[in-house]
Amino acid sequence: MPTHTDLTGRVALVTGASRGIGRAIALALAEAGASVAVNYRERAADALSVVTDIQAMGRRSVAVGADVSDGAAVTDMVARVTAELGPVDVLVNNAGIAIIRGIDDLTEEAFDTTIAVNLKSAFLCTKAVLPHMRAQQWGRIVNISSGAARGAGGVGLHYNASKAGMEGLTRGYAARLVKEGVTVNAIAPSLIETDMVRSRLASSPARIPMGRFGTSEEVAQAALMAIGNGYMTGQTIQLNGGMSFL
Ligand code: NAP
Repeated sequence: MPTHTDLTGRVALVTGASRGIGRAIALALAEAGASVAVNYRERAADALSVVTDIQAMGRRSVAVGADVSDGAAVTDMVARVTAELGPVDVLVNNAGIAIIRGIDDLTEEAFDTTIAVNLKSAFLCTKAVLPHMRAQQWGRIVNISSGAARGAGGVGLHYNASKAGMEGLTRGYAARLVKEGVTVNAIAPSLIETDMVRSRLASSPARIPMGRFGTSEEVAQAALMAIGNGYMTGQTIQLNGGMSFL
């Protein structure tokens, strides 16, 4: 049995891959041999630079702009990826937003937007790629949750709810797909040094027992492990520098 994840001949779609954790996962999947679709919402130039890096590894890649909270946009995105790279074998639902709000200033709009971008998107993207995965009896889905699914975190209860929902979605799909060769797992990182954390969420890693932020590459390594392991499904991998000991 190979000890490393070999994705030669597989097509992967990573949502929110123009920067941060998604970018690192897209590069890691390409390094493992996959053709990779790089989804983004606004930052086309950043997404294109990820595509260039992937192509430099000798893999195929395409940037696909789409708001993954919009069902029609997701349908178009998956059709475009299928036309350009082939049907999707590996889906990483990574796109997410963290709008910082307290109990009193949380609006209905911020609540709805957060649930749509962080949770509904994973349902929409999964629904769009599942027919191919089920038909070939092989597929890998990784959902990027957060320590905030179980802990308080620094963003707000809307973010907690979106990420807890994502873990429910993970178990729900995993249980129903368990006989069909499709595994569904989640990764719950806490305080990874990306734009999301740098822009207001946490200025210092003082509350992390390891005394440092995690890196996007460390999250990508866990994603690759989940994708490479055919017996693990419905699980959430915590990745938090020891914060669960607190
Ligand atoms: P980031 O640096 O802010 O990057 C967010 C990515 O998501 C960007 O590529 C962005 O695209 C994309 N995106 C946002 N809304 C989108 C939409 N509606 N449709 C398509 N793409 C969209 O975030 P990150 O820190 O890498 O976080 C990635 C994931 O990890 C998120 O789900 C986040 O909740 C989760 N997470 C992060 C941490 C952390 O400490 N950083 C901890 C726990 C969980 P554009 O570049 O085009 O805007």
